[in-house]
Amino acid sequence: MARYKSRRRFGRELLISEQSTPSRVCRFCSATKPLSEFPKNRLIARTGGIQRIYACLLCRNNRRRGVYDADVLDNLRLYGASLSPQQTAVHRSGYQRRAAKNKRLYGTTLTPSQIEGVRIRQKRGLARLRGQALELYGGECECCGESNPNYLTFDHINGDGGRLWARLGGGGSRYRVVIKAGYPNSRYRLLCYNCNIALGIYGHCPHVSHGYRSVAVREGDRIAERELKEEMIVAYGGKCQSCGEDHLEFMTIDHVRGGGCQHRREIRAAGVNFYRRLKRQGWPKGDYRLLCFNCNCAKGTVGK
Ligand SMILES: [Zn+2]
Ligand SMILES: [Zn+2]
Ligand SMILES: [Zn+2]
Ligand SMILES: [Zn+2]
Repeated sequence: MARYKSRRRFGRELLISEQSTPSRVCRFCSATKPLSEFPKNRLIARTGGIQRIYACLLCRNNRRRGVYDADVLDNLRLYGASLSPQQTAVHRSGYQRRAAKNKRLYGTTLTPSQIEGVRIRQKRGLARLRGQALELYGGECECCGESNPNYLTFDHINGDGGRLWARLGGGGSRYRVVIKAGYPNSRYRLLCYNCNIALGIYGHCPHVSHGYRSVAVREGDRIAERELKEEMIVAYGGKCQSCGEDHLEFMTIDHVRGGGCQHRREIRAAGVNFYRRLKRQGWPKGDYRLLCFNCNCAKGTVGK
């Protein structure tokens, strides 16, 4: 607890009584400064009196920092940590006291504004990480060159390890993984949602004549599904109601009142059956609209 001892000694040395003079010479930097720039002694202020210390605010802070640094070095030498066990105990009991109070008042260990702060910092960190990853991979869709960052997403090229990829979810872990892989590599690539989801569902993107990979689907089913989708697209206006994109492979139905981007696997499984249901209902308009996957999935723009 050397820090607190030093501070007390420091306080005694420097205390003087409040004077009527409007300015004072700092004992450390010798500058003449207005009285208001000399900190009040807090213990005495608590009893209603005023005493100011001999050091100006700047010199007081520098000295404190020096004392603190010396303290940290001592602690590192003695305990291998920047805080002594006693200091740690003080910190911990203070934290526990505040946590208990917050729990009583708000039901959580942090105050609502602290929670808000944590959320903001997490969001900012995630955005920074995403920015780094996008920059590393060239900032545009490898297939069509789309460069609006809101439309871009990372694709896991080969199926192997896909489950792990799915488990990483949409948080920062994915960005860390693609950054760590370095660029270029054979496992991850940057695509827009349109190209990414078209590749996932159809095995090819309309931008390129050959497919990245083929999907084994019975030909009859495929034609029927395609015709159903064409019918759906015509019924809902023929193109993306937000950007005008009109490739069949990129089109999806957006639930106007529902959540934003659906997971790709969900779309693949539900797509055709969902279109059949809409057809039976005579293509209802109010709750549904036609969007491309980019507009449907875009972060913070049209969707969500
Ligand atoms: Zn000074
Ligand atoms: Zn694209
Ligand atoms: Zn494409
Ligand atoms: Zn669109």
